[in-house]
Amino acid sequence: MAKELAEGGLQVVILEKGHHYTQYDFTQREDEMLTSLYEDCGMRATTDQSILIMHAKGVGGTTLVNDNICLRAPEFVFDDWSRLGIERVTPQAMRPYYERVEKEIAVSRIQDHDVSRNDQIFHRGAERLGLEPRRFSHNRKDCIGCGFCYCGCAYNRKRDMMLTYLPKAEAAGAQVLADTEAETIERNGHRVETFTGRQRDPESGQISRTIVIRAKRFVISGGSISTPALLLRNGFGRLNPNIGRHLTLHPILPNIGLMGEPTHFYEGIPQCEYVDRLDPTNGTGFLLEGIGAHPVLTSLVIPSFGISHQRVMQQFDHFTIHYIMVKDRCQG
Ligand SMILES: Cc1cc2nc3c(=O)[nH]c(=O)nc-3n(C[C@H](O)[C@H](O)[C@H](O)COP(=O)(O)OP(=O)(O)OC[C@H]3O[C@@H](n4cnc5c(N)ncnc54)[C@H](O)[C@@H]3O)c2cc1C
Repeated sequence: MAKELAEGGLQVVILEKGHHYTQYDFTQREDEMLTSLYEDCGMRATTDQSILIMHAKGVGGTTLVNDNICLRAPEFVFDDWSRLGIERVTPQAMRPYYERVEKEIAVSRIQDHDVSRNDQIFHRGAERLGLEPRRFSHNRKDCIGCGFCYCGCAYNRKRDMMLTYLPKAEAAGAQVLADTEAETIERNGHRVETFTGRQRDPESGQISRTIVIRAKRFVISGGSISTPALLLRNGFGRLNPNIGRHLTLHPILPNIGLMGEPTHFYEGIPQCEYVDRLDPTNGTGFLLEGIGAHPVLTSLVIPSFGISHQRVMQQFDHFTIHYIMVKDRCQG
């Protein structure tokens, strides 16, 4: 949005609470990357700790760490939206926009020679069960398949927001203020007048300056958790009781298999293939996908402790990991 507005001639300022990283910051060390790139060190969870919600902070947002799968919204999502009164957003109306974005971020189908070992195992198993595996499209270019996508790309092969839209926004005059968290929103009645942000020194974490933005229009796009949280902290819940409600999560459940031979499942492009068993009319059913992970992230999703956990992790090199995603129907 910042790119489009800046290219349209508007003066745009972007506040980002995370740092402006470059490929040289992405060390491929999970201990360093999970703690610096993710909110709450990758351990953000629901109050009862039952659901882990991972999302990143940094110029480029969670696209810095995501696995680059690019899917268009399925029909049942448009149907859900239309039931909520959003009728003009149809698959046909969206097609030119999808095409434009897909070109901008270089979306292409994963090629045969790029399919990781983990996904080859997934493919074999899915075919044996008659589940018709399909190939994903990703936004990555000349990927070398190091498998560290969730730690940021040290080779600049992801076509994420940091490398695509934001440089174009800046070229059109937008100003990106990194390490700057929007905190206070002042309004006059229903009209927002100023945003106040605190910029932190990335080394010390100390507040280095306060930034006050006065503008005609503000767009809050801090993600589905942090956006309502910011609004609620600023009293907007009194204006609209829906803020902070109706969140759907579409949870994923990891599924770990133990193979007879080393799999090196952590190498290669993660999430090349999937099985779609979602009912196109209402979204019931499930999606199966391969997943990429290294020891720290893997150990987080294995439900064991102490010695038994150690025994499981000793077989790490023989793992194959996939997950099941279901469409969330309830709201929180
Ligand atoms: C490991 C992982 C893999 C994923 N893989 C895929 C995938 O392959 N394909 C896919 O489609 N999706 C994937 N996703 C999900 C996808 O990346 C996110 O849904 C998407 O990036 C969300 O975009 P967003 O703009 O809503 O929020 P974000 O990308 O999270 O951006 C929000 C930004 O706002 C900043 N912010 C928040 N509050 C403030 C504040 N008060 N002041 C200033 N800045 C603030 C945050 O720091 C953040 O940078 C993945 C997610 C994860 C964690």
